[in-house]
Amino acid sequence: MSQYRAVRGMVDILPDSTPQWQRVEGAAKRVLDSYGYQEVRLPIIESTNLFARSIGEVTDIVEKEMYTFSDRSDDSLSLRPEGTAGCVRAAVQHNLISTQQRLWYSGPMFRYERPQKGRQRQFNQLGVEAFGVGTPDLDAELLLMCRALWRDLGIEDALTLEINSIGNSEARSAYRDALVEYLSARKDQLDDDSQRRLESNPLRILDSKNAETQALLDGAPQMLDYLDEQSLADFRVLRDMLDAAGVKYVINQRLVRGLDYYNKTVFEWTTNALGAQGTVCGGGRYDGLVAQFGGRDTSGAGFAIGLERLVLLVDAMGQQASDTLDIFVITVDRAAQIHALPRIEALRSALPNLAIQMNLGGGSFKSQFKRADKSGARYALVYGESEVGSNSVTLKPLRGEGEQATFPDEKLASWLKQSTADE
Ligand code: ATP
Ligand code: MG
Repeated sequence: MSQYRAVRGMVDILPDSTPQWQRVEGAAKRVLDSYGYQEVRLPIIESTNLFARSIGEVTDIVEKEMYTFSDRSDDSLSLRPEGTAGCVRAAVQHNLISTQQRLWYSGPMFRYERPQKGRQRQFNQLGVEAFGVGTPDLDAELLLMCRALWRDLGIEDALTLEINSIGNSEARSAYRDALVEYLSARKDQLDDDSQRRLESNPLRILDSKNAETQALLDGAPQMLDYLDEQSLADFRVLRDMLDAAGVKYVINQRLVRGLDYYNKTVFEWTTNALGAQGTVCGGGRYDGLVAQFGGRDTSGAGFAIGLERLVLLVDAMGQQASDTLDIFVITVDRAAQIHALPRIEALRSALPNLAIQMNLGGGSFKSQFKRADKSGARYALVYGESEVGSNSVTLKPLRGEGEQATFPDEKLASWLKQSTADE
C-alpha cells in the first residue's frame, strides 16, 4: 500500500457513490431553481476575524474546530467552517442586499472534530441565505423548500422538523439570566462541560447530551415564557403557515443552535436513521448579522444541509441511484478500432444519454470480453473482421435477456434509441 493516505477526517468520494451524490445535488438544484433561488460560488478561505465575530468567540467552532493559519503576509486566515459568514460578507461587499436576495451555495467546509460516521473534518454543505425579508413568511418558505427536497429524494418520512423561537437579544439575555440563576443553584449536578458553559455560553447547556443535565433542565425556566411580543407573534404566524401547508413539526424549547448570530426562528431537521449524527439540516433567522458586517440593517435567514448525512440518509432509505455503463466497444485489431472511432463518435452525438466506453490498449477478443463483463455494461458492441468488411456491427447483450444481432451501421442508432426509450 502507498505510504500516502487521505488526511484523517478527509474523505474521498469515489465512483461507487458519486451517482448518489449527483442525484442529491441534482434534486437540490431543481428544487432551489423552482423557488427562484440563485447560486453563488464563494471562496473557501476568509479572514479569521470574519468567523470569530459572526459565529461567536465562545463557540466550539471558533474555540476548537477552525483550521486557522497565517499566510506569507502574516494575515490570519481560516478555512471556512460554515457558509453563512462568507455569504453575508459577499452580499455586503457586492451590495446585493439592497433588494430581496435569495441565494444558495454548496461546497466543502472544514472543522477539526472527532471523525465518525456522519462527522468529518472536511464535509459538504448546501446552504441557502435570503436577505431583506423580516417576516416569517420567509421562514415558512425555507422550510417548505426543505420539505420539497426531502419529497423529491423519497425521504420525507424519515425526517422530523423541530422548531423554536429564541427571541430578540433582550429576550434572550433575560432568559439567559433566569437559566443561569436556576442552574447555578444546582451547579454540582451539572456535567463538566455544562459547568464550564454556565459561565461562557449557558444557552448551549440546553442541548447537552448528558442525561442528568437533561433531567435537571425539565424544571428549568422555558424560553417561550421570555419571548418579546414580536418574536412570539412571528412564531405564531410561522406555525399557522406550516399548518396550512401541511408541514408537521414539533416545538423543541431546548433548540438554541450553536452560533451567536441567530435570533427568532431556529429549526433543525433530524432523523433516527443515522445514529448519533442525526441532524441533517439546521438553520434560522439572523437579523443582526448584516448590520454587524457593515451593511445596512437588513434581515436574513437561511439553513445549511449536511450533504454527507443527506446522502447517507438517502442510502439508508433504500433510494439507490446507480450509474451503469450502457455499451462497451470491442474491436478486433487496430484497423478495426480506427474504423470504429468515427462511428462511435457519431453514436455518442446521436444518443447523448448513453454511456459508451471504448476498449483501450488493445488485447485479444477474449480479454476484451472479460473487460466488457467487468465494466457492468449492458451491451458489447463488436467490430470484428466481417463487421468492418460489411459496414455493420454486432450488438451482444451482456446481461439479462436478448439475442445478439448484427446491424448495418446506419441502423444501429435508431434501434438503440427505440430500445432504450422503452425502459
Ligand atoms: P452537530 O450538532 O451535528 O455538530 P452543528 O450544529 O455543528 O451539527 P451546523 O453548524 O448547524 O451543525 O451545520 C449544519 C449541518 O451541517 C449539520 O446539521 C450537519 O448535517 C452538517 N455538519 C456539521 N458539521 C459536520 C461535520 N463535521 N461532518 C459532517 N456534517 C456536518
Ligand atoms: Mg458541530
